[in-house]
Amino acid sequence: PQSPTNTADNIYVALYDYVARTSTQLTFKKGDKMELINPNEGDWWVVRLIDEVTSQLEGYVPSNYIATCSSLESQPKFELASYKQAKLMKKLRHSKLVQLYAVCTRSQPFYIVTELMCNGSMLYYLKVADFGLARAIKVGLIGPYSYFVSKFVLPELSLCVEYYGNKLDENPQTDGLSHEFADKYEGDHSEFKLGKKLGEGNFGKVFEGLWNGTTKVAVKTLKQGTSEQESFLKEAKLMKKLRHPKLVQLYAVCTRSEPFYIVTELMCNGSLLDYLRDHEDLNQLILIDMAAQIASGMAYLETNNYIYRDLAARNILVGKNNCVKVADFGLARAIKVGLIGFEEIYESTSKKFPVKWSAPEAALQKNFSIKSDVWSFGILLTEIIGKGREPYPGWDNKEILPQVESGYRMPKLPDCTDSLYAIMLNCWDADPKKRNSFETLLCKLEDAY
Ligand code: ATP
Repeated sequence: PQSPTNTADNIYVALYDYVARTSTQLTFKKGDKMELINPNEGDWWVVRLIDEVTSQLEGYVPSNYIATCSSLESQPKFELASYKQAKLMKKLRHSKLVQLYAVCTRSQPFYIVTELMCNGSMLYYLKVADFGLARAIKVGLIGPYSYFVSKFVLPELSLCVEYYGNKLDENPQTDGLSHEFADKYEGDHSEFKLGKKLGEGNFGKVFEGLWNGTTKVAVKTLKQGTSEQESFLKEAKLMKKLRHPKLVQLYAVCTRSEPFYIVTELMCNGSLLDYLRDHEDLNQLILIDMAAQIASGMAYLETNNYIYRDLAARNILVGKNNCVKVADFGLARAIKVGLIGFEEIYESTSKKFPVKWSAPEAALQKNFSIKSDVWSFGILLTEIIGKGREPYPGWDNKEILPQVESGYRMPKLPDCTDSLYAIMLNCWDADPKKRNSFETLLCKLEDAY
């Protein structure tokens, strides 16, 4: 979120519609103006709606849903490229304007759209230029998708806008359910009404839930009377520390009485593995985008010295518009502070072992590192490109390690490009040091796109 440093500039405008989840929050519509009263340190700010009828209304709003009136974010954002517009952009292909992403001619003055880093997220800055009667688009990609678009040049832009258009209209995820959860996370069972069962994991069942009668969430429950309490709570603790748009967000826990709950954001399309198997029609563009989103979440863990240890399509969740996030932190462990790099290896104590996804050094010596996660990411890539195909199909777990140790690698899948296969092979380098970092993988996936 932006921080409201300039107090003179305290009139904000809503970027999206929002429906209040509690009596202390405000409901507002995109375009509504509001005065900032008390910007919290956190992600929920107190504002007063500026409206003749309801001018007294004050309450909390998610800070990433509003922007100062003068900011670029508050400008009307997207107009999807029509066929004509795409054609125009193709014509501009041979111009010298390599850094150009789009032109905007919706109103005077006309603009060229180029890249700008602003407040940590990327915006596309609009520079004045006269393109006569050119009809094109204005692009202002913000947030998690920006990294992906940053590399686009004109010919791809029309495709990109068509593809991202839907995503861009989506309301962003709020940071937490409300300001009440900002620090404490502990909720009451009665606040969460359990609905249909979504799945079942090692700890217990996962349900769709409704918080406070207003907000859909996912509720992971712990079987009563199990010895797993400690790991369950560890998972919750870990999730609290890790916040990134590509990691499933923890909203609350209920641990005052049994059954324990971990409440997270709801990912409406369930696990990536099932999703891939049910959606044969997903094209390469979408698949590579999904892989890049996962690499982005993993790059965040890498930067924060976490190792995940169970990267596989079954542990990735899918939301709307093929948005994917890394979930299930059960096995993830922090690497000791101060010990950085692949040498920082965690001795495994886990008995359950995902052999097909594991790097040989992790499976044989129980040596985990972010680079063993990279190996697993390579296997996950085969699941993605193979639309949920099992790795080493038909092989018994016992056969895999000796084969892999003697140099065997899964062959290239029919739908896999050479560049993508090269990425996979690098993930499976016998020497962990030679494997790419997730940061590099993210860049390479953008290039593969
Ligand atoms: P664990 O090792 O933690 O038990 P698991 O992957 O076996 O992990 P869960 O994380 O409990 O099991 O999830 C089980 C299933 O519930 C998932 O495969 C998915 O279909 C569903 N699920 C879990 N979390 C969510 C969520 N946030 N949104 C939607 N569906 C979810």
